[in-house]
Amino acid sequence: MNMEALKSALALLFRNRLAGFGAVVLSVVVLVVLAAPLLPIHHPDLTNPANRLLRPFSTNHLLGTDHLGRDLLSRLIWGTRLSLVVGISASIIAAAVGAFIGIVAGFFGGRTDNLIMRGVDMLMAFPYILLALAIVAVLGPGLINALYAVAVVNIPFFARNIRGVTVGIAHREFVDAARLSGMGSWRIIWSEILPNVLPVIVIAISTTVGWMILETAGLSFLGLGSQPPQADLGSMLGEGRKLLINAPHASVVPGVMIFVIVMSVNLLGDGVRDALDPRLRSGALARPAPVTRIDRETVPEKIESNALLDVQNLHTHFEVGERVYKAAGGVDLRVDPGECLGIIGESGSGKSVTALSLLGLVASPPGVIKAGSVRLDGKDLLSTNFETLRSIRGSRISYIFQDPLATLHPLYTIGDQMIEAIRCHRPVSKKEAMTKAIQLLEKVQIPNPKARIGSYPHEMSGGMRQRVGIAMALANEPEIIIADEPTTALDVTVQAQILALLSDLRRQRDLALIFITHDFGVVAQLCDRVAVMYAGKIVEVGPTEEILAHPAHPYTMRLIDCVPELGGGKRKLSAIAGLPPAVDRLPDGCAFAPRCDRAEEDCRLGTLATTPAGTSRSVRCLHPSLEQI
Ligand code: ADP
Ligand code: MG
Repeated sequence: MNMEALKSALALLFRNRLAGFGAVVLSVVVLVVLAAPLLPIHHPDLTNPANRLLRPFSTNHLLGTDHLGRDLLSRLIWGTRLSLVVGISASIIAAAVGAFIGIVAGFFGGRTDNLIMRGVDMLMAFPYILLALAIVAVLGPGLINALYAVAVVNIPFFARNIRGVTVGIAHREFVDAARLSGMGSWRIIWSEILPNVLPVIVIAISTTVGWMILETAGLSFLGLGSQPPQADLGSMLGEGRKLLINAPHASVVPGVMIFVIVMSVNLLGDGVRDALDPRLRSGALARPAPVTRIDRETVPEKIESNALLDVQNLHTHFEVGERVYKAAGGVDLRVDPGECLGIIGESGSGKSVTALSLLGLVASPPGVIKAGSVRLDGKDLLSTNFETLRSIRGSRISYIFQDPLATLHPLYTIGDQMIEAIRCHRPVSKKEAMTKAIQLLEKVQIPNPKARIGSYPHEMSGGMRQRVGIAMALANEPEIIIADEPTTALDVTVQAQILALLSDLRRQRDLALIFITHDFGVVAQLCDRVAVMYAGKIVEVGPTEEILAHPAHPYTMRLIDCVPELGGGKRKLSAIAGLPPAVDRLPDGCAFAPRCDRAEEDCRLGTLATTPAGTSRSVRCLHPSLEQI
């Protein structure tokens, strides 16, 4: 890990206050016990019967003494040292052996896996502490034997955990590629598998080490771990227990220490897990609310129009820690009944976020709608209650997503999923829903729908799955379908079929369609009007034909120049130089200015409003190309 990565991981760790607290407490404890030989304290085993059971804060004995007159502070420090060493060693042994077993079982699979894992299962079948007791009983009491016992009973936990992760990556393409390049199994394990499971191992250690310290203390408490006069926290607690009434400090002192250590280790462990696991880091475990959080100061005035859907000044932000990503930074859109509106823009320009914001589907946290309104038939969807919104989702407005394999449930047949989609909004019997589902599959031109309805998503081709996606979107006869790059995952011929299908369905049913894409070729084929999006704002909008013929915004021109024309001669295809700006650090003025060849000084100042261009178009640019309009 380089310095930068280490720094960012540490920053992440300390952003979690509790983990930072755990780290600080644990560091103090570790520093003190490491320095034990240098500290001016008594010898931990030095008995002095004349001074037995002194209370804490007596002269010379800060924490008092035990029943043999030994200094409790000194025993506490040395005992903690021993407990930590034993607990941590046990976790490392358990992790190393368990991970090895898990990787071998997961990687080789088949009989090896079966044999190993059944052995592990047998170990797991015994109650945990009973197994540890049995092992110590066989090996004989003693701290080292307690260490072995604790390590052994924890091996199955690591083995199971790591096997699961290994199975998940053993058949991935990069492992196949390594095999194809002629690497041997052990080399693949070392260079391909191990680096991928290492974070999981670290996470597993960090979350179990506290538990292991506790188990070692448990064995010592029962007299099976450290033997007198040697002290560890467990044995101190065991000795103190007998004097609980007369001299409570003798057991409270080690008890508090065990609590402090285990608590700080666990807090730190959770923090390490959150910092290392990229999924947790992005807040995957934070269950998003059913509706995006809305935090608007005012609702924009209603504009009288006959639009079916009217979006005004929509601001959707992602608030991640200190950063604010302005994914949609003031989007205005209008969709008329039966119209197809294209939204086009580079990847990351905020198209999906805009589309999801319309029905409050952006995950919150971190998403929040800061301003704007979304009016369906004049009624603001962002002001309605959840039930109303839910009844609109999928019935009046429905979605088609980019990757149908990711949106269809892998374990249900497409029939079941379609029936579910229908019955979610209509009180019909299963049988009626089934008939309707078959009709829908027919509508989207799936051959032999009666047989196909029982198929699972993985049994269909990409194009077919997308047809199922479309059929599901049509299930409740919506007025608007929002299609978010529905053909990007498909090859060109299938893409053409799907586009033709959408176009037909739209005309038959008088559907409004919001079609999101990054391809002007697709827009030209399907859309009546097009809105060009850049860095969270619509920069140009107007009828497709006019915009294609005479783009006004420099960005639109560049986008159109990116589309190759088949048989169109030897035109030079120009890529747009540079990258879109990061939406958490948008420049002043026009966000496209840094990449624009028409940009002048005034483009980099203030905020830019849209200006009308011609009768039906508008553009957000100070120096648009307007000659032809
Ligand atoms: P696209 O136009 O490709 O559909 P998106 O709408 O998915 O783009 O994303 C727009 C912007 O929002 C991107 O710059 C992305 O970095 C940001 N974004 C999306 N989701 C999140 C999130 N969960 N946290 C932070 N930023 C996000
Ligand atoms: Mg997208």
